[in-house]
Amino acid sequence: MSDGRWFDERAAPGVRVLYEAGRVLHHMRTGSHETLFMDNPQFGRMLMLDGVVQVTAADEFIYHEMMSHVPLLAHGSAEHVLIVGGGDCGLAEEVLKHRSVKRLVQVEIDPQIVSLSREHLGSMNAPVFQDPRFILETGDGAEYVATTEHRFDVILIDSTDPGAASLPLFTETFYRYARACLKPRGLLVAQLGVPFLHPMQFSASMKRLAATFPEVSCYLVPVPTYFGGPIALGWASTVLAPGEPGAEQLAERYAAAQLTTRYYTPEVHRAAFALPRYLQDEVAAAIRPDKGPAA
Ligand code: SAM
Repeated sequence: MSDGRWFDERAAPGVRVLYEAGRVLHHMRTGSHETLFMDNPQFGRMLMLDGVVQVTAADEFIYHEMMSHVPLLAHGSAEHVLIVGGGDCGLAEEVLKHRSVKRLVQVEIDPQIVSLSREHLGSMNAPVFQDPRFILETGDGAEYVATTEHRFDVILIDSTDPGAASLPLFTETFYRYARACLKPRGLLVAQLGVPFLHPMQFSASMKRLAATFPEVSCYLVPVPTYFGGPIALGWASTVLAPGEPGAEQLAERYAAAQLTTRYYTPEVHRAAFALPRYLQDEVAAAIRPDKGPAA
């Protein structure tokens, strides 16, 4: 069934991706975004912000499982977690599956995204709103990390791509404040977009992370509605090297956590850190600017 409308995503200069609307549930201006909730025949319920796909019912599990379980199982005993952005609350749902987590703070700039996602995306977030460990703060994540006295084991930056509201979340200043909010073994994971389509954005973010943290890399996740190749999730820590811990320990932690996952496995976790040559070179250039390929 279709109401005849198609919505396009401007994926990159010269590239548009069209999605058919079976039904439009909400299309309006919220606090910071042009917000669209609709049903698509292939991907089911979906959320677009400012003409960019954020999440769909069909493939959200891939992104949300990999953004949560990779850092939480790598850490091994995370109790205090911060999500910056994450308005659809699908990431919060995965984080709260970890019984080790005592407190999850989510700082979202646009509270209407949360309330509309609660109404329209219940299949991916309903348990979050019954969970006393979930604390929702409204505000700019950049301001929050600069001022909060709380300290976190894991910080997850689930933001929109760089734009008016989210630009501060891609700066070195933000990463420095975020680092200061981490506990001693803490680590940060941030969505850095699709590097094949946006290589400059990716390498700039990697350089800023590498200027702030000693342990930096990224891992790759193929999400069908993030057009143009796998999305990169940046990894930054003062202590934990990317790819740690080893296979055996990871399998033990996964079994002990008793997670039910559809995408994540300990093998996929480790494999996601294997980078193709063109990204290895970018990461090397970010970590050791003198040794990487010419800018
Ligand atoms: N997984 C999605 C993706 O990569 O496309 C992102 C999902 S989530 C909907 C992104 C959220 O980041 C939005 O709800 C947006 O309002 C929020 N956001 C953008 N800038 C922000 C900021 N400076 N502080 C806090 N939240 C912000």
